[in-house]
Amino acid sequence: MSAHLVLLGPPGAGKGTQAARLAERLGVPAISTGDIFRANVAAGTDLGQLAQRYMSAGEYVPDSVTNAMVRERVSRPDAQEGFILDGYPRTVEQVGALDEMLAEQGRGLDAVVELVAAEHEVVARMLHRATVAGRADDTEDVIRRRLEVYAAQTGPLVRIYSDRGLLVQVDGLGPIDEVTERMLVALDG
Ligand code: AMP
Repeated sequence: MSAHLVLLGPPGAGKGTQAARLAERLGVPAISTGDIFRANVAAGTDLGQLAQRYMSAGEYVPDSVTNAMVRERVSRPDAQEGFILDGYPRTVEQVGALDEMLAEQGRGLDAVVELVAAEHEVVARMLHRATVAGRADDTEDVIRRRLEVYAAQTGPLVRIYSDRGLLVQVDGLGPIDEVTERMLVALDG
């Protein structure tokens, strides 16, 4: 199965965990824009300093910055047979940028998996993660803002990909293994 996949879903839906597991099962890299930004913040790069201002407020990093970063990442050798994009695209503009970068290489998306989870569930998960991982963008106010931004900026992507016949919706609730199996079954069908 060619695996150029996008994982959609609100913050706290378990995208990162599931992207890593899917990547292992499908033999393609998981690419998390959030992880790349956090690595840059930790390393104190210029990109990290810029990104941190947005991340700590629950806002999105500007499209131009994010798109350039993803363009570089998907062009690397390990991503030529596919990838699981976790947390990208997140805006309508990013959808267009991804289409362009893949089209330039004669590639396209195979599916977009939406991990569906109720708001109270994702808030609880993020608050839990805040205490476990100490993420600076996981305070309650920032969590609320992140969910608002997701609904406004990323919500429309569900419709865009469903109109293209690419959308696969999977219930994100339940044991981690079960969710992974659900995703694999849904992708096969
Ligand atoms: P995540 O770990 O995917 O929840 O991302 C953490 C934060 O990184 C987000 O709240 C944004 O500030 C930033 N970020 C990650 N991916 C993107 C993206 N595709 N576009 C803009 N900002 C992003």
